[in-house]
Amino acid sequence: MSSTENPGAQASTPHAFQADVARLLHLMVHSIYSDRDIFVRELISNAADACEKLRYEAIAHAGLVETSEGFAIQVTVDAPGNRLIFADNGIGMSHEELIGALGTIASSGTRAFLEKLSNGENEEQSKGADLIGQFGIGFYSAFMVAEKVVVETRKAGTSEAWSWVSEGKGVYEVSPLPLEAAPAHGTRVILHLNEAGKAYAEPGRLERIIHEHSGAVAVPVDLIETEGAEPSRIAEGSALWMRAKSEITPDDYTDFYRGLAGQFDEPALTVHWRAEGRHEYTVLAFVPGARPLDLFEPARKGRGKLYVRRVLITQDADILPGWLRFVRLVVDSNDLPLNVSREMIQDSPIFAAIRKGIVNRILQELGKFAESDPEGYKKLWRNFGAVLKEGLYEDPERRDALYKLARFATSKESEPVRTLGDYVADLRPNQTAIWYIAGEDPKRIATSPQLEGFRARGIEVLLLSDPVDAFWVETAVGYEGKPFKSVTHGAADIKLVPVLEGEKVASSEPPAADVATLLAFMKETLADSIEDVRASERLAESAACLVAPEHGRDRRLERILAEHGNAGLISKPVLEINPVHPMIAALAHRFASGADRALVEDAAWLIHDEARVADGDAPADSAAFSARLTRVLTRAAQAPLAGE
Ligand code: ADP
Ligand code: MG
Repeated sequence: MSSTENPGAQASTPHAFQADVARLLHLMVHSIYSDRDIFVRELISNAADACEKLRYEAIAHAGLVETSEGFAIQVTVDAPGNRLIFADNGIGMSHEELIGALGTIASSGTRAFLEKLSNGENEEQSKGADLIGQFGIGFYSAFMVAEKVVVETRKAGTSEAWSWVSEGKGVYEVSPLPLEAAPAHGTRVILHLNEAGKAYAEPGRLERIIHEHSGAVAVPVDLIETEGAEPSRIAEGSALWMRAKSEITPDDYTDFYRGLAGQFDEPALTVHWRAEGRHEYTVLAFVPGARPLDLFEPARKGRGKLYVRRVLITQDADILPGWLRFVRLVVDSNDLPLNVSREMIQDSPIFAAIRKGIVNRILQELGKFAESDPEGYKKLWRNFGAVLKEGLYEDPERRDALYKLARFATSKESEPVRTLGDYVADLRPNQTAIWYIAGEDPKRIATSPQLEGFRARGIEVLLLSDPVDAFWVETAVGYEGKPFKSVTHGAADIKLVPVLEGEKVASSEPPAADVATLLAFMKETLADSIEDVRASERLAESAACLVAPEHGRDRRLERILAEHGNAGLISKPVLEINPVHPMIAALAHRFASGADRALVEDAAWLIHDEARVADGDAPADSAAFSARLTRVLTRAAQAPLAGE
């Protein structure tokens, strides 16, 4: 679609919305969501973005800005006509940009939002309505209150203007707009209000909403109470981050955060500081109070707004590493050069130094927050701990700082509140390692038989159930000289740690002769499935468990890595047996007597399969498993009753 040729006078071209947009619109129009106010925020935020874009462009291209009054957004109420008009003197859109921007969905956040909706069938549809509130859904939110939307726009520095019209029902039309009817540059969004929207054609209400949701945008907002009336300024458009902290209320911060993040929650942590020293810059950063939906989307990046002396350079500057991608922030620098390209600004060594300073400060503030508000930090860690832990393997330089921030659920604390410092302070006598168990299901790993011997000795075990744990724990060198070791990997050298009073564990003495014979027979029977059968030190109540051999990788890690595309050879496990378990003792006795070889063979396989089930796996061969189980149960049922 070319916009350069002179378009025919009244030609109006119909276009179909991209399928995703049509779905989103359907949702907007039929939304039962009661808080429709957000369309105001979305339209003002787009208008402010457009002004900031032009402010930047005008540095390199003098003459682009035609008005001398400065940038402003005007909201006009036309109550008799049932219309609202959002006008800006920003950059405007060319024909091509118009079609690209208002007919498709580009933002990854919006796409994630739509996916969430379509995954969860019908009963989720109503929840979808709530999600709208949580999400920045942009321009299309206008259709929550309008039966028809007209966009009139002229790109700065061009001599053509366009009108875009839609009733939000699958199609929109674009036609040329005579220049005399168009703004000098910028965009007018005209809403023809629907039944639900009529209540917004009221200046008082609109003013309140603008204060509430857009009081902190970086461009002033004027309200025109009725067409032809004098505009009155209702938001100053001063950059919030440049104001003194003492003049900023918590509500100001929250509003600003919501506009920045496109979320509707309260920020969990707000950090605002001015760096003075080698480099001068101001940072206003927020940790959201809720998880954004696209937190784990591969395309999700740390979104930071970068300003140079109040001029917005880019909306998504690469300021923070991936493991801080949940932080939303604005950075305004006095030192960066303004008159070079965006790329050159971001490649400059000054920017690198600023980034480093910001990461350090945010880590420091997270640490302070953890100390001053443990409950708040617990929630923050639940939301974003899995992301922060990515830093443990991506950024070895920050590992120590991140170890201090990390919180773990353990065999002693089901909530993720234990620090590695706590863990090391509570080491048992002769305990030389930090023990962990990894797996996908936190409930199941907490009840693993492999933990029994550790519990009986009072040894705390970290319960690692985030997929990212498999990655960092592999490369972690240890904490305060204590290596990380898996309880399901290799021999558990814990026999020197005293058993707690009243607890029993599998004996660490060599097994009795008949048990040793039984183990040898089991090893022969199960040879295809396992690497070894040996007497265990890590069991207490259970008869058996599976562990990884010394030379292999932890089995659960192996599995998690395989799921994430790092399939290596899955090694055969070792079957560990509790030699003093009554069932094992009885089987050993029976086997030594020479009777019932077939029963013992069935039992060997059943014990093996039971250990698999305890790990959350299916029996190795389910048909064989049920045949064996039936045989053994039949025998047990047919055994003579006592006294017969
Ligand atoms: P987002 O603002 O997150 O990109 P929106 O749905 O709010 O998503 O807007 C889509 C796009 O439409 C914007 O990125 C911008 O390119 C364009 N747009 C919307 N409103 C305006 C406006 N007032 N002036 C210029 N461009 C606009
Ligand atoms: Mg927007």
